[in-house]
Amino acid sequence: MSILKIIEYGNPILREKSKEVTKVSKKIKTLIMDMLDTMYSANGVGLAAPQVGENLRIFVIDVSDPSGPINPLVFVNPKIIKKSGAINSYEGCLSFPKAYTNVRRYANVMVKALDINGRPFVKEARDGELLARAIQHEFDHLDGKLFIDHCRNRFEADSVLKKFNLPPVEVDKLINEEDLEKEIEQYEKEHPEVIEKLKKELEENQ
Ligand SMILES: [Zn+2]
Repeated sequence: MSILKIIEYGNPILREKSKEVTKVSKKIKTLIMDMLDTMYSANGVGLAAPQVGENLRIFVIDVSDPSGPINPLVFVNPKIIKKSGAINSYEGCLSFPKAYTNVRRYANVMVKALDINGRPFVKEARDGELLARAIQHEFDHLDGKLFIDHCRNRFEADSVLKKFNLPPVEVDKLINEEDLEKEIEQYEKEHPEVIEKLKKELEENQ
């Protein structure tokens, strides 16, 4: 197993659409193991194949407590089959060293994918939990989308990127999410306990 180089924002590879994996071969398994190694060594909760220079539809996630045992999740050829609710998600990305900003995400998602042995599975993540946000973030990478494309405030995102010497927001890549923005407001009213939990989590991590 080896640690791969993580590609940073500005590299066009991150903007390409990735291809489906036709077979979870030995070579693909090695790539997945290397991606997990790379993610753990960078203290990330998720990593997508394009971030290590492979435009293939694969991502890995581990949202377990860093002080406990590891719990790697592998998603090959993922499809998001259900999504609902919306939340504010404060996110960063291993391809954007140190830069964090507020983005719009669905609160609940259901994803279908193949595991490292090529076996299909379905995973559900709810109430804006870290897994729900990570799945959407990593899934986007496979379509050449980046978290800043979902930013809630373009000017805030720009100033964060500038602070860390990263290229500015690509205005033509911004996703129009007016409906999602309205849904965030609605969801916050209806699920104060979720918002409270997210706030606490954010404070603990700062
Ligand atoms: Zn990322």
